[in-house]
Amino acid sequence: MINEKAYALGSKSSVIREIFEYGKKRKSEIGEENVFDFSIGNPSVPCPKIVTESLSELINNSDPVSLHGYTSAPGDINVRKAIANYVNGTFGVNEKAENIFLTAGAAASLTVSLNAIVNEGDEVIVFAPFFPEYRVFAEKAGAALRVVKCSPPLFQPDLCELEKAVNEKTKAIIINSPNNPTGAVMSADTVEKISALLRRKEKELGSQIFIISDEPYRELIYSDKEVPYITKYYDDSIVCYSFSKSLSLPGERIGYILVSDKCKNAREVYFAICGAARSLGFVCAPALFQYIIPRCLGKTSDISVYKENRDILYNALTSFGYEVVYPDGAFYLFVKALEDDDEAFAKKARKHELLIVPSKDFGFGGYVRISYCVSTDTVKRSLDSFKKLYDEYGETQNG
Ligand code: PLP
Repeated sequence: MINEKAYALGSKSSVIREIFEYGKKRKSEIGEENVFDFSIGNPSVPCPKIVTESLSELINNSDPVSLHGYTSAPGDINVRKAIANYVNGTFGVNEKAENIFLTAGAAASLTVSLNAIVNEGDEVIVFAPFFPEYRVFAEKAGAALRVVKCSPPLFQPDLCELEKAVNEKTKAIIINSPNNPTGAVMSADTVEKISALLRRKEKELGSQIFIISDEPYRELIYSDKEVPYITKYYDDSIVCYSFSKSLSLPGERIGYILVSDKCKNAREVYFAICGAARSLGFVCAPALFQYIIPRCLGKTSDISVYKENRDILYNALTSFGYEVVYPDGAFYLFVKALEDDDEAFAKKARKHELLIVPSKDFGFGGYVRISYCVSTDTVKRSLDSFKKLYDEYGETQNG
């Protein structure tokens, strides 16, 4: 008998992956340029030059045996020191290299962190809409997911609902700003309020409640909004960072976990992270990509392309009549479906070769997600299809 839960997860891919695969098939049938594939969050702009320069320098000037060898399990200490220096200098905090663990991207950071802190029967709170893999990671770690809805139209966390959701089983809440799938950014005021609420609950309940800040989109911001650094606001915090989106390196699998030094039992939590990574078989993060990090901290690929795509799509869709959440960051647009059933709406969009993701799996029905990390040309050429889709619904309602 094999593991049924693993079978269930592996035999059915995520809705996002399913649409992505459909897109590949459709492109081979009617030509790449005729399919408007907004399904997946794969960065469409190349990594910055500093990445390729660092890679060639490393390859040309290093001893290949050590370059491609194992690093220590938590990652090369000089890389971890560089990250700590960068974080401290940029956000005015006082974090330590010894509390940083390099990982294979945010997915690994999240699953390792959850496995490190959760005991069977605990609960993890997420704000809906949320990245669907949170459920997979939390449940595998033994926790139940408790969902607190954000309130439209701004999609900020509902703090009254959060207050009701926190209980003696709560082990962590996951925050994600800029957010996938809404693009919403949490203000410092909201982060402060969440922190104050959890501090009070920790006292009342006599428990420790972590904030896990999932940050693959931290640098993808298109306004002067700041993304508050969680360890400044809340002691029992863990940052799950990834270079996948900022440096356009999602296939290379590189990121890190940072346990705040102010965390009540920081060293214990850190060792639990080391233990969770060990038991999950993460030996060390990809070495070559560890070594480029010191030169690439704070750098991004050319995100002005995403801003342009956002502006074109947001302006066009709202002018057609769609209800769209205004995104300050990430590269997603969250759009109200034109019927209650978001899956049926996304299916109808396919008739116009628009591949968009229904929101049900994000824990918040009635919307679709458009990933605008595609070429600006694709965005422009897709507008006619979005208009036709909108008009089709108008005709149904009128006729
Ligand atoms: N968290 C969120 C909110 C994401 O959108 C993603 C990827 O799209 C991840 C985590 C996983 O990122 P990574 O590629 O670094 O594993």
